[in-house]
Amino acid sequence: MCSQDKRSPRRQASPPSERPEADQALRCAAEDRLRELATRPSESIEADWPEAARQLLYELRVHQTELEMQNEELRRVQLELDATRARYFDIYDLAPVGYCTLSEQGLILEANLTAATLFGITRGELARQRLSRFILKADQDIFYLHRMQLLADGQRQACEMRMVALDGAPFWAHLETVPALASDGRRVLRTVISDITERRQTEAELRIAAVAFQSQQAMLVTDANRIILRVNRAFTQMTGYSAEEAIGQTPFMLESSRHDADFYRAMWKTIDRKGCWQGEIWDRRKDGETYPKWLTISAVKCSDGSVTNYVGMQYDITERKVAEEKIEELALFDSLTHLPNRTLLRDHLKQAMTTGQRSKTFGALLFVDLDHFKALNDTKGHHQGDLLLKAVAQRLTASIRESDTVARLGGDEFVVIMGNLHRKMEQAVTQAELIGEKILIALNQPYRLDDADHQGTASIGATLFRGHETSSDDLLRQADLAMYKAKAAGRNSMHFFAPAMQAVVLEHAALEASLRMAIQEDRLVLHYQAQVAADGRVAGSEVLLRWQHPERGMMAPTDFLPLAEATHLIVPLGYWVLETACKQLAAWAARPEMAPLTLAVNVSAQQFREADFVEQILAILTRTGADPRRLSLELTESLLVEHAQESIEKMLALKARGLGFSLDDFGTGYSSLSCLQRLPLDQLKIDQSFVRNILSNPSDAEIARIVVALARSRALTVIAEGVETQAQRDFLEASGCYLYQGNFFSQPLPIEGFEEFVRRH
Ligand code: C2E
Ligand code: CA
Ligand code: CA
Repeated sequence: MCSQDKRSPRRQASPPSERPEADQALRCAAEDRLRELATRPSESIEADWPEAARQLLYELRVHQTELEMQNEELRRVQLELDATRARYFDIYDLAPVGYCTLSEQGLILEANLTAATLFGITRGELARQRLSRFILKADQDIFYLHRMQLLADGQRQACEMRMVALDGAPFWAHLETVPALASDGRRVLRTVISDITERRQTEAELRIAAVAFQSQQAMLVTDANRIILRVNRAFTQMTGYSAEEAIGQTPFMLESSRHDADFYRAMWKTIDRKGCWQGEIWDRRKDGETYPKWLTISAVKCSDGSVTNYVGMQYDITERKVAEEKIEELALFDSLTHLPNRTLLRDHLKQAMTTGQRSKTFGALLFVDLDHFKALNDTKGHHQGDLLLKAVAQRLTASIRESDTVARLGGDEFVVIMGNLHRKMEQAVTQAELIGEKILIALNQPYRLDDADHQGTASIGATLFRGHETSSDDLLRQADLAMYKAKAAGRNSMHFFAPAMQAVVLEHAALEASLRMAIQEDRLVLHYQAQVAADGRVAGSEVLLRWQHPERGMMAPTDFLPLAEATHLIVPLGYWVLETACKQLAAWAARPEMAPLTLAVNVSAQQFREADFVEQILAILTRTGADPRRLSLELTESLLVEHAQESIEKMLALKARGLGFSLDDFGTGYSSLSCLQRLPLDQLKIDQSFVRNILSNPSDAEIARIVVALARSRALTVIAEGVETQAQRDFLEASGCYLYQGNFFSQPLPIEGFEEFVRRH
């Protein structure tokens, strides 16, 4: 129907051909007549015209006018038609889709401009091309099928396929074709071709987004009000909440309460400002477990900048955290023993130095080296060696305070750091030495390695530090040197780096040796300090240990008891005291003035914890024949509270035989009253530190009053120790305490002196 020249809107129309025949005849006759008349002068003509002719002329003129009007109308309609046709061709050519008329064989008969543009070719060149030329090879079948189907059912058909422009640029096309009849009666196909590349891309992106949304990463999408719209499977797996449970809620449902309101405020502020936030956050799963995750929140904005959605992407970093910890462990801890390695040791040493600097206290560094470790490794193999190192690590850790550090430098070398020791060097050496001794004893115990027994010892080099006076490298060198001295001295020993420190140690060693001798040679004595009632009567006495030292003279227990405890000598020493006191009770039993007196004996924690403590006491009572009712044991709070149940059992067993128990130094410990309530005590002893300032310090006075009230409520007696003045005694009496001990009445005296004191009262 269409051809190239149809485009021209200015083509002339042919005159109308469908006039009636009568008109045509009339016009011919009139024209002939007019021609003849034209040869004559007009006035003569008209004058002799018959009426009929004049009438005819009139009609002819009227008809001519009509004709002219019709012609005018015809021209106007023609112009309008031309404009409409031009408009149609404009619309047709510039339509957003391509139009082609194809022959049944697929030959392009005619196309609009858009189609030509789609294929990158002029319209003239496009005509007579096969449409298949512009179809991607792979999609040729689609078009073939499309055409076949059209020809078969004569119905409108649509298909999508990839086409290529002349320059090779591919694009996605939607084809919609209807069969039609051309003006010449041939069957043609009218095809509409739309470029759907963009739509296809969007669809692909949506598909990708949909797949991506179901990725490994947990995701949630909220609206602008943070109401959850969608979550993916990974989200469900991670949080335990199904999509149904999550949708409609806010992400608040995941909050772990590990972060405060300020944290979330800052997070949302960043999202508002930057459009996104990411960081580590702790959330709570449905089952209540909290876990760390890495969260990225992005705001989705529309063109005007307002937020339409928030997308949260998150992944569980529990495993990563564990891995990080593992890496840290590898970097800072020894993999065999899990003790800090050299790097972490330096760190801890620096900390201990800084703390010491502030508190002006000494710290100690011990270099522990196993004796003959190489021999074990060489003869029994590395596996046994490893087992030993692990056991040593455990024993070392058990020997130190929680605040101290044990590190492994490598091989069989360990280092112990102790902070916050005494401010005085001698005392600090003693403390370090005690721990060192403890370590040596611990490492001396037999080891069970797989199925084999092993006996090992260690050598310890020690040095003290105060603040940052000595560098950490120098300290390690000092301790190392000292350790070699310990090895040289015969192993299984401890040596201090500095001569002054070592001198203290040597002195201790000498002291220990002579204390052992003292026990054997009976150079220990008991002194008796009277316990006096409010009416002045002597009720009994506390026995206090003294050591008659050949060179140093009479030594107080505070000078040698710590050493005795460290070397475990306290146990035989304690039994010696008990035995001596019981002998004394037995001897007094025969003397009426002394028989009613009681004796209070101090019992150390180490001794009380001995498994056979009860049996030993009973054996002593039997051996000496002392009356158990005259014997009272003084225990301290810490001793009782640490192993309360065991203590109670031992106390009850002895109480059944008539022994009494007094709680020494009461008020200085931190035990809870409820714990004390359970202990089967007979007496509370107000510590001398409260008595000392009872008149000047109201809170000390208050404590004394509370102890009295407490004792009274539990039907216990109460005694005050360290009473030095009449005023203190009177104040105590006024507070309800009627039993006293202290220098105001009598110092601790040798037995003769004490008996003399009793006789005088
Ligand atoms: P403790 O059990 O608190 O003994 C009381 C201490 O206070 C004694 O010191 C005593 O001499 C002293 N004292 C008594 N009255 C006064 C006074 O009026 N003013 C002042 N300032 N001090 C007074 P000592 O004899 O030096 O004993 C010290 C600690 O040694 C005892 O403290 C006790 O814990 C322990 N101890 C003494 N003998 C033995 C014993 O045979 N075995 C055990 N395990 N520990 C003992
Ligand atoms: Ca005591
Ligand atoms: Ca005391």
